[in-house]
Amino acid sequence: MPDTTRVAADARTGLIHPEAAALPDDLVQRFIAIVGQRHAICPGDEASPYLREPRGLFTGATALVLRPGTVAEVSKIMRLANETGTAIVPQGGNTGLVGGQIPDSSGASIILSLSRLDALREIDTVNNTVTVEAGMVLERLQDIAREHDRLFPLSLGAQGSCQIGGNLATNAGGTGVLAYGNSRDLCLGLELVLPSGEVLDDLRKLKKDNTGYDLKNLVVGSEGTLGVITAAVLRLYPRPKGVEVAWVGVQTPGQALDLFQLAADMAGGALTGFELMTELALDMTIDHVPGARAPLNDAAPWHVLIEISSSRSSEDANALMQGILSDGFEAGMIVDAALAMNLGQAQAFWNLREAMSEAQRHAGASIKHDISVPVSALPEFLAQAERVVDGVCPGARVACFGHMGDGNLHYNIAQPPDHDPDRFLALYPQMTQAVHDLVRSFNGSISAEHGIGQMKRHALAESTPPVALDLMRRVKVAFDPNGIMNPGKIL
Ligand code: ZN
Repeated sequence: MPDTTRVAADARTGLIHPEAAALPDDLVQRFIAIVGQRHAICPGDEASPYLREPRGLFTGATALVLRPGTVAEVSKIMRLANETGTAIVPQGGNTGLVGGQIPDSSGASIILSLSRLDALREIDTVNNTVTVEAGMVLERLQDIAREHDRLFPLSLGAQGSCQIGGNLATNAGGTGVLAYGNSRDLCLGLELVLPSGEVLDDLRKLKKDNTGYDLKNLVVGSEGTLGVITAAVLRLYPRPKGVEVAWVGVQTPGQALDLFQLAADMAGGALTGFELMTELALDMTIDHVPGARAPLNDAAPWHVLIEISSSRSSEDANALMQGILSDGFEAGMIVDAALAMNLGQAQAFWNLREAMSEAQRHAGASIKHDISVPVSALPEFLAQAERVVDGVCPGARVACFGHMGDGNLHYNIAQPPDHDPDRFLALYPQMTQAVHDLVRSFNGSISAEHGIGQMKRHALAESTPPVALDLMRRVKVAFDPNGIMNPGKIL
């Protein structure tokens, strides 16, 4: 074991601060030598952005941040870490919401930032694939696809800073899952550096490959606990020729479900977005996001955003959307609706939806969940959940929003307006337990798209059959016998 009380010797250069003492100085220097001084960050101000996640819920300490520029360097880092029992915490854009990318407070872990490994290795418009390195920012990949008249459909609030490696490690979801699937569904092949330093090159472009256990799909969603993803082959789609976006007010989640079924029946695979929001989530966004405006004239307790994408033409998309809205009105499912008149308005509708999470940060304290239940059960779940919430904190207000088409809601609860925020947040464990218990009674998931990280380890243990947990532990040991990969996460 390293001597945790020792203060680093090289105080003269200021290179290593006392908190780095959890790793011996000579070992720190060996790690630094792999990437070069320029790409190693010692504890101090420059390292702090790596140690705190966006909401400030999780903070940690590190002995060193390493920013390798090649797969060979990643491999050398892993080999040395494995030999010396040094914990490695892989990190992409640091946008995760469950603390999976943040080290513990011991200061004995090394953060492995994949940011410099961000190259486009290949784009193949015949096979409709793109091969990119882990550090590529999602938005850049979307832009590259667009430049080649293709669509990379993964789309989420953090796309301007999250990275592909992190998206895959967490099996990120977002707003495009309804039509295109989550990160796992978009991934055809991986390049993975194992804790031993060995490189698993599985960068294949195959849609069909039934050859033994699917290691790639074990690694996707493993949150950096099995190895380090350094590159991936991802699917591209044809760019839609026409897109229509509508904002719709409905009275009840039951009406939203009816409208979803109507839209899915009429549009089939052209239904590319179906988001559900409470009026409160919308109001908070309008109050706290500059330039945000109410999309409808009339108030409605629930709101829906519908997106239709046609592979044929904009006229086709428009006709489909008009058909859904007029049938929906006729059947009494819709209170009010607004069809985006142009691209700018369509973007404004999406921006309203995307800004909801951020807006809630400025609207008092909130307790957040990322749950899913079968789509058909959403109205009943929402009805029961309201009673559960009121039982834990009378006066608390449901400000949920999310991907109704996937049965996935960010079931967020806002504090009663007259409560002290800290008093409300003290109810976090109790509230979460109550909501998660209800989710389990619907055979749902307590983490639909954000992962487990540090935040939901206990909830995972409560939600997963012991046989499955035991298998997960054995898989972990098979990949990482020395337990150096992102310790304290998931299991
Ligand atoms: Zn989401």
